[in-house]
Amino acid sequence: MSTPCDIRSTCPYCGVGCGVLLSPDGAGGLAVRGDPEHPANHGRLCSKGTALGETLGSDGRLLTPRIGGQTADWDTALNLVAGKFTDAIAEHGPDSVAFYVSGQLLTEDYYVANKLMKGFIGSANIDTNSRLCMSSTVAGHKRAFGTDTVPGTYEDLDQADLVVLVGSNLAWCHPVLHQRLLAARQRRGTRIVVIDPRRTATCDGADLHLALAPGSDVALFNHLLAEIDRTGHVSTDLAATVTGFEAALAAALADDVGVTGLNPDDLATFCKLWIGTERVVTVFSQGVNQSSSGSDKVNAILNCHLATGRIGKPGMGPFSVTGQPNAMGGREVGGLANMLACHLDLENTSHRAAVSGFWDAPVPLPDAPGLKAVDMFRAVGDGRIKALWIVHTNPAVTMPDADAVADAIAACPFVVVSDITGDTDTARLADVLLPAACWAEKSGTVTNSDRTISRQRAALPAPGAARPDWRIMAQVAQRMGWRDAFDWQSEAEIFREYARLSAVAASFGRDFDISALADLDEPGYGALPPTRWPVTGRDDAERFFADGRYFHPDGKARMLPLTHRAPAARTSPKYPFRLNTGRIRDQWHTMTRTARAPRLSAHLGEPFLDIHPDDAADLNLIPGALVTVASPTGRTIFRARQTDAVAPGQVFAPIHWTGDTAPSARVDTLIPAAYDPVSGQPESKAAVVSVTPF
Ligand code: SF4
Repeated sequence: MSTPCDIRSTCPYCGVGCGVLLSPDGAGGLAVRGDPEHPANHGRLCSKGTALGETLGSDGRLLTPRIGGQTADWDTALNLVAGKFTDAIAEHGPDSVAFYVSGQLLTEDYYVANKLMKGFIGSANIDTNSRLCMSSTVAGHKRAFGTDTVPGTYEDLDQADLVVLVGSNLAWCHPVLHQRLLAARQRRGTRIVVIDPRRTATCDGADLHLALAPGSDVALFNHLLAEIDRTGHVSTDLAATVTGFEAALAAALADDVGVTGLNPDDLATFCKLWIGTERVVTVFSQGVNQSSSGSDKVNAILNCHLATGRIGKPGMGPFSVTGQPNAMGGREVGGLANMLACHLDLENTSHRAAVSGFWDAPVPLPDAPGLKAVDMFRAVGDGRIKALWIVHTNPAVTMPDADAVADAIAACPFVVVSDITGDTDTARLADVLLPAACWAEKSGTVTNSDRTISRQRAALPAPGAARPDWRIMAQVAQRMGWRDAFDWQSEAEIFREYARLSAVAASFGRDFDISALADLDEPGYGALPPTRWPVTGRDDAERFFADGRYFHPDGKARMLPLTHRAPAARTSPKYPFRLNTGRIRDQWHTMTRTARAPRLSAHLGEPFLDIHPDDAADLNLIPGALVTVASPTGRTIFRARQTDAVAPGQVFAPIHWTGDTAPSARVDTLIPAAYDPVSGQPESKAAVVSVTPF
């Protein structure tokens, strides 16, 4: 039950997008509980969401702008930022500047950043840490469907008879969705298959766990496609809705399922289950995305659903679950270097002209993708980027080859960081620090994994001089000379502009259309309930692709011919272990917020390395020993945990700890900057390392 004093908002962590009820206590604190009326969670929260109220307070917050470590006023700081970016653009061109933003941004923040960089600066050098999260899914969707359309919804998990989780530790990374799946299982006997090199908490109670070799997902789903054909389960409607089947099947038949390392009985059980269950949802996450063949992995999954026609219908389809609270909103608003707003295409002349006209842009919009995250920081390192603005993210810890990224940021002529704290590995390298408002202090919208747009609402005043991100960026844009185009007075004004732009996208037949929200007045925006897009005001289709029409010019989906590629880094006598990385249940990203709640650290309180007991014996490790882990790019120290949850030759480490940990456990120093050639997403789960006693 909610009370009249409750403020409805959304959890700021994972892409499940749970609704929360916030009750200010009048002393700067908040009671937080699940919103029973939110369709994502129906009142449930996980440990992180439940502890949100303990993560608030102004301790450690950045309260004023700082220039060169000294406190400054907003005018001075904003003028300096605007002047430095203007000078760099005048002297070196628009591609000499870059924004690196975050899936923590609200959609309105993202809209302003994207409009400023692509529309007014005239560069596509804006990328987001969502590049590290799910950009392979974006690429896979666009290749198969013609747009980045997520066809699935959470209700499909309620209605499926089989849910296959690929590269997803749903129990820890999307806990409320996992609880929802377990509830469905109890209700209707849903079968669950987990495909993951590691035995995770998600495997508890699963019907089958396929511990495939790291990076071999394409070979597995190629085998499934071949079996779909061999057993006569290809959709009879295929020719009307899909192209590319013959080539995809030929590639599948030529691929070698042996690289998965799976035994024939498990393979046969999996194929029989998948093929024999009409209502099958294949959920995939970072184990698929964070790979040098991530886009192909996504398309290998989509191939199987397209071949069987198991898409666009209740209880079936491929379903990407996103990591961050607004990774989806960032995709929709064009926050990636290779996207235009509202699922329009940067490379399409007509799309660019339409967006340029809508924005009344003073310069031509870029006609090619900008620098994606890895290449952006390489450009910072080699001096091509003269001014860099980093917003709500900590690339000195989270980017692959993190030591090189930290060095690049340190050497960049001008670095601005907007964040809630000045005490991160990245913020300490900034020339200018701008204090940003955070969750529960700022207002806007986010989109969760199943396309539901929800409001985040302010319940507390921002401390000190902290401001919302959209306002900071708009004020810099205005100081760069674009006063009218960035003259919004509220988040609602930005949202209305965005919704109007979606009508332009819809006129090109794009999927993202929220034009019916373009007339929301302030009270209407204030009261906006969770709303799944499209929102056209017409008779919106219940689900995408139900009519068999896709967004390629011929209206058909594309199946792709795919072949397994091994991870980029190869094990060797010097680096004999394959390093997997991931989240733990009770921490989030680099723990800026979650470390403030002591009970969250009670779960797993220090960085660790999971290693198989046989490998530990070979290394003469005693239980709890510290180990040095080294790769071609870096070196860290972890406490070893012996467990057969990882296979011999594989190790696992969590991503959360930063340079503040002594000794350092910055796992991304170990990760090479290899990436998927289509999506640009780094391969974060397949580094090669040595392990030695410390
Ligand atoms: Fe927040 Fe995700 Fe937990 Fe929901 S499942 S409460 S969105 S962290």
